[in-house]
Amino acid sequence: MPTLACVPILVRSHADAIAQARTARDAGADLVEFRIDGFFRPNDDTSADEIESIVRESPLPCIITCRAAAEGGFYEGEPDPVLALFDHLLPLPSVAHFDIEASRHKGWAPVGTTASLILSLHDHRGRPADLNRRLLTMRATPGVGVIKLATTARSVRDNLELLDLVRDSDHPMMALAMGEHGLMSRVLAPKFNAFLTFASLRPETATAPGQPTLHDLLHLYRFRAITPVTRVYAVVGDPISHSLSPLVHNVVFEALGYDGVDLPLRIPGGDEAPESLKATLLELIHHPSLDFSGASITLPHKRAIVRLAREQGWSLDDASAALGAANTLVIDRGHPRAPGVRVLNTDAPAIIRALEGSIDLTRSPLVGVVGAGGVARAAAWALAKAGARVLIANRTPDRAAALAADFSGKVRALTLADLVREPLDLVINATSVGMKGGPAPEAIPLDLYAIPVAPLVMDLVYTPIETPLLALARSRGCRTIDGVAMFVEQAALQSEAWTGLTPPRALMNRVVREALAG
Ligand code: NAP
Repeated sequence: MPTLACVPILVRSHADAIAQARTARDAGADLVEFRIDGFFRPNDDTSADEIESIVRESPLPCIITCRAAAEGGFYEGEPDPVLALFDHLLPLPSVAHFDIEASRHKGWAPVGTTASLILSLHDHRGRPADLNRRLLTMRATPGVGVIKLATTARSVRDNLELLDLVRDSDHPMMALAMGEHGLMSRVLAPKFNAFLTFASLRPETATAPGQPTLHDLLHLYRFRAITPVTRVYAVVGDPISHSLSPLVHNVVFEALGYDGVDLPLRIPGGDEAPESLKATLLELIHHPSLDFSGASITLPHKRAIVRLAREQGWSLDDASAALGAANTLVIDRGHPRAPGVRVLNTDAPAIIRALEGSIDLTRSPLVGVVGAGGVARAAAWALAKAGARVLIANRTPDRAAALAADFSGKVRALTLADLVREPLDLVINATSVGMKGGPAPEAIPLDLYAIPVAPLVMDLVYTPIETPLLALARSRGCRTIDGVAMFVEQAALQSEAWTGLTPPRALMNRVVREALAG
């Protein structure tokens, strides 16, 4: 049976509950959960009557839940009045399931109806130490239809235990990880044959931390297309919530008819970052049924992934090896017990591809790169390799000098004041200057007017698409290339390495520009 998409609704009034249920139906949900715990008053028949009429009018099959305060809900009372209400609702055909906490169910079962009992267990702090024992008791409970487990994930790896429990369960089961690390357990529910997953109508109507919206579940992650053999990809970094990678890669998978799904996975930065990156990736790669097949690696892990590759004996492409930084993991699962892992740097070739048709690098043009961070290093290396004469300048001159020294003679460092006196054919901004939310969003990283010619200007910043530098360059009559061009190329090269298929670059370009404009 396909995994269901269920929208939880905190009941506040009859009209609001029905309106939300209709919206959920129209948006593609399979069922709704009426969470009556903030509405039901045990000694007041009117609340029970209203609940009955909500259930009668529900446009979708529903779950009735009166979540106890002890398990994260609003109901402070005893279980008996709830069980009496459930008895009263038993004959209504729209009730598909009654949810009761295993700790409070008191032997109740929905006898004489087609509705089933969801026996649930919630832990908002972590994972119960005796989880497996409690699960055994739940499985052995007479009348149990579906088992629901909701624990709190402290890291990406906590999802895997839950997904394994679902896969191995002899009962219909859902196991959801709450919190920001839990997205994998929710989106990959169909891959592990879970009974259902919850998705909110809007971020603010989520009933548990980490619940995705129904729109993202169905359209961003293509939940209906996920099956037990779907390959799993991820963008790994910190912060990660605003990454465009899942959007772009999932659109590409759909356009190519490729059976994959791409998710954001936050692996925190800080002192522990290399260790958590290693532990997480090794667990994902070696999981027997996750089909983890690749990742986009972003800040702050781009250098750590190369060190990990060297430690693990994974293969590195030329750019990763030369730059000591990479952004792509490719896992060849041809041999399930010993997957082959490749680490690539698609940033460097993406800069060259983004310049194609605008400048001939084989004719040794003079290129000024501003910046000395990771992307400046990739640009300088790739441009020098492609035949350009590369000059580099940075706010902190010592970093530019160190970068040039690493490329022994192929790249020359100079001050920003000296750089703009050169007859540059191409200027590339590889700093975060001009980036929305960055250190200097309104600033321009170099004095464009001092350059004796009107160079081609490329900005690698892509939020906003039209940076102050590009606006000025255009007004000066320069040709310009924005940061989306590189972003799309690095993603296209990743997709090609993962799927072996030619990605639809024009579509990717449109999707990214649309997302950035919105
Ligand atoms: P990074 O390693 O942190 O380097 C940041 C660079 O920006 C350094 O050169 C730094 O100079 C300079 N900088 C920061 N604030 C500045 C300021 N107020 N004035 C002058 N210079 C300043 O970052 P990165 O990974 O190289 O990325 C740089 C930018 O490239 C990002 O912001 C991102 O927008 C863009 N990027 C785009 C793509 C794409 O696909 N289009 C891919 C990756 C990155 P100091 O050395 O003096 O600190």
